Amino acid sequence: MTADGSSRTDHGKCADDGQGSGARCHIGIDVGGTKINSVTLRSGRIIDRLRVPTPRSENALLAAVAGATAELTGRTVTDAPTVGVGIAGMVDRDGCIVHSPNLAWMDGVDVASRLNEAIGAPVSVENDANAAAFAEWKLGAGVGETDFAMVSIGTGIGGGIIVGNRLLTGANGFAGEIGHIPVIADGPACACGGRGHWEAIAAGPALGQLVEAATERGELRASQRVLGRRPTATDLELLVREQLAEVRGTIDRFADAVARGLETLVAILDPAVLILGGGVMDIGPVLLDAIGSNLEARVEGGSARQMPDLRLAQIGSDAAAVGAALLGAERCSDNRFAARPPA
Ligand SMILES: [Zn+2]
Repeated sequence: MTADGSSRTDHGKCADDGQGSGARCHIGIDVGGTKINSVTLRSGRIIDRLRVPTPRSENALLAAVAGATAELTGRTVTDAPTVGVGIAGMVDRDGCIVHSPNLAWMDGVDVASRLNEAIGAPVSVENDANAAAFAEWKLGAGVGETDFAMVSIGTGIGGGIIVGNRLLTGANGFAGEIGHIPVIADGPACACGGRGHWEAIAAGPALGQLVEAATERGELRASQRVLGRRPTATDLELLVREQLAEVRGTIDRFADAVARGLETLVAILDPAVLILGGGVMDIGPVLLDAIGSNLEARVEGGSARQMPDLRLAQIGSDAAAVGAALLGAERCSDNRFAARPPA
């Protein structure tokens, strides 16, 4: 997979140029709380991209997605592309947004139908984290696997689950909302309004609090000297690279919080692989190894059982856009409208 942006140089036109359907272009659009990241995918490679801020109204947002599709199509695509959208929030089987904390102005909007109208072609609409998991399955760390969970740890925790060689969508399309697994009874408040949910204790903001607490206790004095200021969660990657052993305690405490949710996933799914991605995982193998140790200590059967293989995600911040493009290709390639495959 070369979803790294450098492939912008590969600027050939997309069309049915005799190479069969592999040469067709697939546009994938990741609608996040602050930006819309759009890519053109051909034969599993990003050949073009476009990034715009997310408008804060329903009509402007839909117009921005349609506009990005038109612009990418005009730049490199000569054949009708398929279009897939990944969007932050609960997306039902018809491509309608039921609830989106980060895009509250889109609640209740039938995104698939509205975009189908605006673009004049079928559009697949999926939850962004499910789309990212799909990308890792087809082109990244999950290639060839039939049972894995992808966990993306950033501002919150998102996820997607492949079970029995299928993307798990649930009865309504809402499966894989793993950030809201309860892990501590009456624990810290979660962004969703609940308490003690996994992302309230194991996402970026919680890591920031652990770093702050360790600094207060005087555990991170050398880190402070290296940085010339108080460390934050985003400094951990650098501090690990600088081999400051004093950060290990904080990383281990955070790893145990991450392992609490993974323990639940392992108990329910028995996955062969857990793929961990998102900005927090930029800390790298040190964090991955600490998560693995804590998970083995927690999970039923522990060292006696086959533990899932822990892997870092490979596709990075384009994963949701790439996965949306791949889902659009799979669901809309015959140009029949199908927001989701038949159950
Ligand atoms: Zn929650």
